[in-house]
Order: sequence, then structure tokens, then C-alpha cells
Amino acid sequence: MSNCAIVGINWGDEGKGRMVDLLTSDYDIVVRYQGGGNAGHTVVNEKGRFALHLLPSGIVRDGVSNVIGNDVALDPEVLWKEIGSVRAKGVEVTPDNLKISERASLLLPWHRELDSLEESRLADHRYGSTKQGIAPFYSDKFQKKTALAGELSDPAALKRHLMEIMEWKNLTLEGVYGAAPYTEEMLDRWLEDYCEKLTPFICDTGDYLREEASKGRNILFEAQLGAMRDIDYGIYPYTTSSNTLAAYAPIGSGYPEVRLDRVVGVVKAYSTCVGEGAFVSELFGEEAEALRRAGGEYGATTGRPRRVGAYDAVATAYGVEIQAATELAITKLDVLSYLEKIPVCTAYIIGGKEVTGFPFPTDLDKATPKIEYMKGWMCDISGARRWDQLPSEARDYIRYIEESAGLGATYISVGPERDSYIRKDREE
Ligand code: GDP
Repeated sequence: MSNCAIVGINWGDEGKGRMVDLLTSDYDIVVRYQGGGNAGHTVVNEKGRFALHLLPSGIVRDGVSNVIGNDVALDPEVLWKEIGSVRAKGVEVTPDNLKISERASLLLPWHRELDSLEESRLADHRYGSTKQGIAPFYSDKFQKKTALAGELSDPAALKRHLMEIMEWKNLTLEGVYGAAPYTEEMLDRWLEDYCEKLTPFICDTGDYLREEASKGRNILFEAQLGAMRDIDYGIYPYTTSSNTLAAYAPIGSGYPEVRLDRVVGVVKAYSTCVGEGAFVSELFGEEAEALRRAGGEYGATTGRPRRVGAYDAVATAYGVEIQAATELAITKLDVLSYLEKIPVCTAYIIGGKEVTGFPFPTDLDKATPKIEYMKGWMCDISGARRWDQLPSEARDYIRYIEESAGLGATYISVGPERDSYIRKDREE
């Protein structure tokens, strides 16, 4: 039996979904252990192109079981819509291949509304929320002001529980934001819409994972977002509201005693960042627009143009360290093929001094990038399947990433399709 976590080393959108889809051939179960429907993994395979938000990426592989763990922000509305959209493309979703933790907390309709209201109130000082209710949800989870997925099986009891919470929530909605209150009728409709539909999927995912592990099944843990967005170790307050780090996978999945054998850190060959917050290696103007276009860097959930930047050696080394990554997967190398010279951020300059350790969040605003250039390869590499099929400039670029990250790469991805990759560790 072997367990593996696939995690983002940077700000998210590194191509984790694509790597999970590839690695599921070696794993039996994919577990999503944190986050909500506020970001998406994109998977392209023989069944089509899927933008997944809450469903684990293994859902689009036949024979793979999928688990939504207890630290996921379980939004029944978003999940049900997503189940419908993948079913429409011929993917089966049944209680056999999807298990939801009974201990997952429910993201309720008012969380989404409160998220929007607060971002509007903040105006120019907003955090760049995707308005999916994630921050209000996690606040309420820790205030113990939401309900657990396991409660969906008893709608009458859940209604009594949620009526109490709703009364308290309406005080904020009306008193703080001057918004309309939620009503009993709205709650009834919500309960009617989701209790019966989701109950068959809900179980004790810890028991399930323990039992499967005892039969020798291999488990893959999948993170949403990247190391820089971790609530405790990221670029606070421009983080998400949960822990994105691999160390959290056991806790967020319902199987806290499990040990991880591998942690695959996914790094993009350049940088992107969605939303607000310091992004030291950011590129601007035409240089940025060309990279954004080449990489198709528009959000999977929101369609928002992503901020793009040079590969950031400082942030990557930090990400590798705090993820305790055991190997790298470098993605989107093909995107850089149009560049004659490739910018890389080798250090930060703060107060005239060169810094290679990742700074305290508020110092990031004072940092400027030290940019150096590497020679580009200027040819299509998307057909390369072996290390020796890459031009020497591309191999040098990969070696630079490995050296600056302090870790070797197992996978190099040169396209979004399942088979567009090079297994580097077996070839040098
Ligand atoms: P995730 O949230 O980390 O899974 O990342 P996203 O799904 O937001 O972004 C990755 C995007 O890049 C998706 O559209 C993938 O299909 C695409 N992608 C992944 N790997 C590669 C690659 O090596 N080359 C190219 N051109 N696209 C890739």
C-alpha cells in the first residue's frame, strides 16, 4: 500500500488536477481534503474537458473511488450542479464511487451572500474572494455555527438546528449589511432540494479509508490551491481560509493516523496568481498578455484573467519546504516555447538587500524581483515524451528549477492531455 499527496507549491492553478488524473492509474482512491468550490481543477481526458470544483479529480477515471473529506466546505448546491454536469458528459457518479464525509460541514446559502456583501463593503481593500462563501463558511465552522453533512439524513432535526443558526445569521445580514433576511420557506426549499439527494453519498470516510487501506488499496490525497494560500503559512490575509499543505491531508480526509509515503509538489514553469495580494515576480503589459494568452491563464471557476509572472525561485523553495515535497511535477513547460529568453526571479530585493528566504507577509509589499534570463528553445516541445527529446535549453531550464527548488522532478508536463508528459526520473 502506498499513499501520496498531490499539492500545489505556488499560488494554485499549477495543474494539480492534470497530475491527479495522470497518477490515478496507480491509485485506487482520490481524496479531496480541504477547500471549497472556489477554485477549479481542469482535467482533459478521453471523456472530454472537465472543470471540477468540489468533486475529486478521480471522478473522471473509471474504477477510482472518490472521497470528499471533512475539511471540505461542502456546498450542496454547487456539488449537485457539478454532479449533474459531469453525468451529462457520461461520467457515472454513484454512492459507490463518491463518498462524502459525514463530518464535512455544510456551506449554507447565506455564506455565499455574506461573502459578496463583505467584498462590496471592502471595495478597494477587498481580499479578491471568488464570492463562493468560503471565508464566512470557515469562520462559522470554527464558531460551530453550521451543521454537519451527516445531519442531512434527518431533515426535521436539521431544520431545527438551521433555524437557530438562521436567526443569528439574519442579525448580521440585516443589522450589519442592511440585506434581506433568510426565511423559513427558503430553508424548507433548500432542505427539500438537497437532503434526499445527497444522503446516499454520506458516510464515515475514516472507516471507509481505513478498511480500504487494510486491503492494500492506494490512496491519493488532492489539495485545492497552493502553499502560498495556506491560512497559516501563506501570504496572509490573501490566503484561503483553510490549510492547503500536505501535512493537513490526513486530518482533512477523516483518516488522521495515515502516513504519506510521497508528496508530489506541482510547480508551474512560470507563475500565476489569482486575486489580490503581493506577487513579486509579476509581469505586466504586453509581456504579461503574451504569457497569459500562451498559457490560457483564465480562472477555471470565474473566467477571470490570472496575473502572470516569471518562475519565482524564492516562493518555490519555500513552497517545497512547507509542503515537505518528496518530488516535483513541473507543468506547462510547453507554454514557454514562444520565448526567445525566459525571465526567472532568482531572488527578492528588500531595502536594497538580496533575499532568498521567503519574507514575512507584510514585507512582500516591499520586495522587488531580481530577474535574470535563461535561453529559450523556440520550438514546439508538446510532442516530447522522453528527456532526450527536449532541446538542451529546455533541459537547462528544468535543471535550474530543480536546483533552485532543492528537489528533483519526477514528471515534466508538456501539454494538458493525460499522456503529454515526460517521466524524467527514469530517463536521465
Ligand atoms: P489546478 O487547479 O492546479 O488543477 O490547475 P488548473 O486546472 O486551474 O490549471 C491548469 C490548466 O493548465 C488546465 O487548463 C490544464 O488543462 C492545463 N495544463 C496542465 N498541464 C499542462 C501542460 O503541461 N501544458 C499545457 N499547455 N496545459 C496544461
